[in-house]
Amino acid sequence: MEPADSSAVETEGKDRASFYTNAAEYWSSVPPTIDGVLGGFGFVSRTDIQGSVSFLKKLFKNPPGHERALDCGAGIGRITKHLLLHFFDEVDLVEQNSTFLEEAKHFIGTCQKVGNLYCVGLQDFSPKQNTYDIIWCQWVLGHLTDEDLVDFFKSCKQGLKPNGILVVKENLASSDEVDIHEEDSSVTRPISLLRTLFRKAGLRCIKEQKQKNLPRGLYTVKMFALVPDIKVSNSSVGSFTTQPSVTYSDNGET
Ligand code: SAH
Repeated sequence: MEPADSSAVETEGKDRASFYTNAAEYWSSVPPTIDGVLGGFGFVSRTDIQGSVSFLKKLFKNPPGHERALDCGAGIGRITKHLLLHFFDEVDLVEQNSTFLEEAKHFIGTCQKVGNLYCVGLQDFSPKQNTYDIIWCQWVLGHLTDEDLVDFFKSCKQGLKPNGILVVKENLASSDEVDIHEEDSSVTRPISLLRTLFRKAGLRCIKEQKQKNLPRGLYTVKMFALVPDIKVSNSSVGSFTTQPSVTYSDNGET
């Protein structure tokens, strides 16, 4: 594992490409099941969904509306089926693995409320402008480089309706360093780095909550509700840094 400093690995060109192709390769070897998308921890799904329901209900004390949600890195549609379809009139899914998306149709079952299924990596995806009440990103953002994540966050801001909210639910590293996972070509960020990336993208956190009742030994999981920070102009966002940015390669070697 490399320390989280600015001398970390470049992700331009080949490194960046292999960071994504290695992840795609990993996921193509995983069965399209709950246990598969949760890395063998399918039994945490119910607890996870309960935590998400409680978080979402708190957000609904104020806007957003209930019309349309986007499930990012949707896998087989676990979150769409057990969470988002209970709250929204229409749910779109974006997922890079076509087998998972195909399975999502069966897993979710016939439902008029399922909208578009986009089969593409988040690094190449921009939500349609001014469309979503909620954009939900869970257990997928560690598959994006810092730079691509900031760009993706910026495009999510455009994709939100005026009262829309971007929800990020991710594992958090226990130290101030980034954990690099070679097997699935992903990273686990410390909360400090996530916060820096939120700010770089011009996002403001309006609520955060720790996921309770996860088994010991798993990463801490937190939910963040984010909205565009109207105080941050585009020009100041670009130059904002509070700590060195980190980039990653597929193998964690410099
Ligand atoms: N969010 C879902 C699935 C988590 S598993 C859930 O909680 O049930 C991680 C998912 O992210 C997998 O389906 C994987 O194919 C997808 N993924 C990995 N890299 C991605 C990328 N760059 N863009 C979009 N999806 C990605």
